[in-house]
Amino acid sequence: MRQSPNIIVTGTPGVGKTTHSEILAERTGLRHVSVNQIVKDKECHEGWSDEYQSWIVDEDKLLDAIEEDVKAGGCIIDWHACDLFPRSWIDLVVVLRVDSSTLFDRLTARDYAEAKLQENLDSEIMEVLLQEAREGFDEEIVIELMSNTSDEMESNVDRIEAWVKQWKLDNTSAGNS
Ligand code: ADP
Ligand code: MG
Repeated sequence: MRQSPNIIVTGTPGVGKTTHSEILAERTGLRHVSVNQIVKDKECHEGWSDEYQSWIVDEDKLLDAIEEDVKAGGCIIDWHACDLFPRSWIDLVVVLRVDSSTLFDRLTARDYAEAKLQENLDSEIMEVLLQEAREGFDEEIVIELMSNTSDEMESNVDRIEAWVKQWKLDNTSAGNS
């Protein structure tokens, strides 16, 4: 049994996954697991895709690389996909959402190429990641949160922090004693 919950923070690139994860890690003491970083550092990929300007992820290698850490609990998994993670590993799936115009501005600021920008805007409008989360996990552990403004981010972090506290009360011997 985990002493701390595992949370996935997912959503289209630019929604605010990394920013949320870093603040949450600071506030809750959970560990920020940046999948991008692990894919790069531990070479969990089959090379670089020029078309997508990203690594072609080797999912088996990635799961092997994080398994021990995640099984110990207390991870905030920061990535733009969630359906590869075994259900039994995960206690909460946070899907961050933004308005198109906000996402456009954020991805433009990142110098995204036109095709990639459009693809990500479409993906956000079509709720691709939300759908993936709902298909991959029990609906009661999937929450959708807006991430357009710093006020929204603040309230998201407060809400998740409260959820972590409650999870510990409900699931650990410390909470039950
Ligand atoms: P992701 O990890 O999902 O790609 P980031 O956390 O890197 O997204 O955020 C992308 C950009 O948007 C950053 O410049 C960040 O400061 C900004 N940002 C993210 N979420 C918010 C928010 N809720 N309010 C204001 N700015 C945000
Ligand atoms: Mg990020």
